Amino acid sequence: MVSRVIPVDPFDLVIFGGTGDLARRKILPGLFRRYCAGQMPPEARVIGAARAEMDDAAYREMIGEAIAEFGDGKAVDQDKLSAFLETLSYVAIDARGETGWRALAGHMRRKVVRAFYFSVAPGLFGDLAERLNAHGLTDDDSRIVVEKPFGRDLASARQLNQDLAAFFDERQIYRIDHYLGKETVQNLMAVRFGNMLFEPLWNSQFVDHIQITVAETVGVGGRGDYYDKSGAMRDMVQNHLMQLLCLIAMEPPARFDPDAVRDEKLKVIRALEPVQPHHIVRGQYSADPDDPESLPDYRTAVENPKSRTESFIALKTHIANWRWAATPFYLRTGKRMVARSSEISIVFKDTPHSIFGEEAGRHRNVLSIRLQPNEGIKLSVTIKEPGPGGMRLIDVPLDMTFADALGPDGAENVDAYERLIMDVIRGNQTLFMRGDEVEAAWAWTDPIIEGWTNRGDVPKPYDSHSAGPDAAAQLMRRDNRDWREVTP
Ligand code: NAD
Repeated sequence: MVSRVIPVDPFDLVIFGGTGDLARRKILPGLFRRYCAGQMPPEARVIGAARAEMDDAAYREMIGEAIAEFGDGKAVDQDKLSAFLETLSYVAIDARGETGWRALAGHMRRKVVRAFYFSVAPGLFGDLAERLNAHGLTDDDSRIVVEKPFGRDLASARQLNQDLAAFFDERQIYRIDHYLGKETVQNLMAVRFGNMLFEPLWNSQFVDHIQITVAETVGVGGRGDYYDKSGAMRDMVQNHLMQLLCLIAMEPPARFDPDAVRDEKLKVIRALEPVQPHHIVRGQYSADPDDPESLPDYRTAVENPKSRTESFIALKTHIANWRWAATPFYLRTGKRMVARSSEISIVFKDTPHSIFGEEAGRHRNVLSIRLQPNEGIKLSVTIKEPGPGGMRLIDVPLDMTFADALGPDGAENVDAYERLIMDVIRGNQTLFMRGDEVEAAWAWTDPIIEGWTNRGDVPKPYDSHSAGPDAAAQLMRRDNRDWREVTP
C-alpha cells in the first residue's frame, strides 16, 4: 500500500535555534525526508537563525553533515540533498538583542506561509515573540511553534501563555508534544472512533483498568543538569503520558477538528482526581559497579549526590466522570528501564461467569496499543488450548504490527516531527496542545510535586535495566493487578 503525499503550500520556515541539537537531529533531517517525499515543495525556504556567526554555505554544510549523521540510515540521494540544501539560508540573530532582525526581514517573502519554530530555551520565547512583532515579521496568518518544556509549573506556564498571547492568537500557536505526532497515537483515535467494535465496551462497565507505560533504556545522558531540575513527572507525565491518557479516555468529539478534539481532552484533564501520596512511587536508578552498561547511577550522572529528583514514576489515578469513575488508570515511566517500550493496555474485565469451570482457567481480553518500537495493535483473545487435554483456556494474540499489515510502503516511517511540521504549514492544530490544556495539566501536577517537597520525599532506588522499584509492582499488587511486562 503506497501512502498518498499531498504537497503543502510554499512556506518560509524560520528555525530559531537552527544550529541546536533538536534542529540538527530532528527538524532538518525530518524536513529533508519530506522534501524527498515531495511533500515539502521546492519553492519552500528554511532559514536557520541562531547566535553563531556563519554564512549560508557554512550552515548548509553543517546541516548536510547532520542529515548524514541523523537521517534514517538509508543512503542519501546526493542530488536531492544538494537541492534541499539550496533551500536553506542562515541569519545570525540574538533573541534578546537587536542584531540580525533586519537581515531576517530581508529573507521573508510575501504570499507564502510564514512559520517560526522556537527551538530555543523557553526563557527566550517571550523575547522572540516580542521582536518578531516589533520588526513587523508576522501577519495574521503567521504561526509559531514552541517546544517543550512549556513551563515547569502552573504559574510559569501561565506566564508563557501570556507572553505569547500578547503578540499571537491561540490559533497561531503550535505547542509541540511529539508524542501526538506518532502514527500509532493517531491510530488510537482511528481505532476508537472508526470502529463500532470498541466504543460500546470503552467504559467502567467492561474495562477493569488501563495501563500506560513509557519506558526508556537510556539514562539522563548529557542532559543531567536540565533533567535534575525537572524529573519524570514534569518531563514525561505532565505532557506525554497525560496526552495519551486523554486520547484513551476522552468522549467522542463531534468532528475531527482541532477545537472539538481539544475540548474533549481538556474535559478529561479537568476530571482527573488528585493523586493520593500512597498511590505514587518515585524511583531513581542505581548502578551495578560490575556492569559497565549500568554506569553511572542517576546521582553521579546529574552530578548531584543528594538529588531527590525522580527518574521513574508509577501512579494510580481516576477520572471522575460517568464513563470512567470505577476504572483506575495506572501510569508508569522511567529511564534506564529493562527495555525501550511505549505501550497502552486496556485490560477488560473477567467474563461474569465461566461456563467452563474454574479449572479451565480465567483469562482477560487485553487491547495493547504499542507506540514504539514495532508500532501496532494487539488484542489478546481467549481460545481453547489445542489438543486432547480437555477444555482448558489460553490467550492468543490477534496481532497487527503495522509494518506487517500495511507492507513496507504503507508503514513508511514518518517521524513525529516531520508530520507535525507539515501540520503547522497546513494550519492544522489538532495534534498540538492548546494553552488551556497545558495549564489544566499543570494544575493537576503541581500539588503532587508540592506534596513531595513538603514531605521531603526521597525517591526509591531501582536497579538499572529493571522494571523500576519493587514498590511500583506493589502499587498494582495491592489492587490484585500486575503491570504488563516491559518488553522490547
Ligand atoms: P541547544 O542548546 O542544542 O541549542 C540551542 C539553540 O539556541 C542554539 O542554536 C543556540 O545558538 C540558540 N540560542 C541560544 N541563545 C540564543 C539567543 N539569545 N538568540 C538566538 N539564538 C539563541 O538546545 P536543543 O537541544 O536544540 O533544544 C532547543 C529547545 O528544544 C529547548 O527548549 C529544548 O528544551 C527543546 N527540546 C529539545 C529536545 C532535544 O532532543 N534536543 C527535545 C525536546 C525539546
